[in-house]
Amino acid sequence: MRAAARLLAVLMLVTAGSAAAQEKHLIDRTRPGSLDPKPLPPLQNPDAPSTPAKELFARKSTPFPGPPRSIGGYFDGCLAGAMPLQATGPTWQVMRPSRNRNWGNPQLVRFIERFANNAKKTGWNGLLVGDMSQPRGGPMLSDHTSHQVGLDVDIWFTPMPDHVQSREEREFGSATDVVAPDLRDVDPKVWTHAHTELIRTAAQDPAVIRILVNAAIKKALCREAGADRAWLFKVRPWYGHAEHFHVQIACPADSAECKPQRPPLPSDGCGHDLEFWFQESTLHGPPSKPKPPLTLAGLPPACKQIVKAP
Ligand SMILES: [Zn+2]
Repeated sequence: MRAAARLLAVLMLVTAGSAAAQEKHLIDRTRPGSLDPKPLPPLQNPDAPSTPAKELFARKSTPFPGPPRSIGGYFDGCLAGAMPLQATGPTWQVMRPSRNRNWGNPQLVRFIERFANNAKKTGWNGLLVGDMSQPRGGPMLSDHTSHQVGLDVDIWFTPMPDHVQSREEREFGSATDVVAPDLRDVDPKVWTHAHTELIRTAAQDPAVIRILVNAAIKKALCREAGADRAWLFKVRPWYGHAEHFHVQIACPADSAECKPQRPPLPSDGCGHDLEFWFQESTLHGPPSKPKPPLTLAGLPPACKQIVKAP
């Protein structure tokens, strides 16, 4: 009886341990959506300078009219003249529509359409598109620090199914985690060479400046890239990003207020560059302490006008 109890305790520990490991690389796990999203309650004091900007931007369900403008930085900006990505295209489908985050600078929408079409030519059935930006960009209540200027998009590692998905499938379908449980490589049970070709296709688009993937995925890309490695420098390791990859496009030429991010170093980022990411402390360490939420004072002044407009 005692032995049985001990065995049970050990089993429970093992289960808890592997659950923790799962949580670790799924820090940005794809959460289910909703068939009946509730509007957010009105803010008590929307004009208080301490009001987190994410509370204001999350309450805007329509874009700011006028010409497209990506304003400020990817981590501290907003978006005017946003356009939505159509929920269903010939080679893509928008996931989690209840989040209302399928908005972007028109250049991002055009990129996604182009990328979906080019990916199809490599044999990828179609894109499942995760978060882009909110209708007016800005910080979000959950899941991202970037995605603020309508120039970022998350693409699932799951290929699009052959049918037009129902609302239920889009809200509750789960994304494929392509990283092995020990976090040291991709999971050969789900990773395919088609994933490499998919990321290569995105990276080769001239509008793309950076792609973020889990370090285990970067390691696989380094191994599978072959002779043509010029695109690899754009693909950078980051925490999480095991169920989707994050694509960032450049500030459009007509967005004079857009603050460009420093491009990645031109080296391919393979080999020694990846060692840091596979140290125990990095694999299992928290990505960073959360910063205090941005207020409107931390965004370009134009963003205040954009989020305050009806
Ligand atoms: Zn992202």
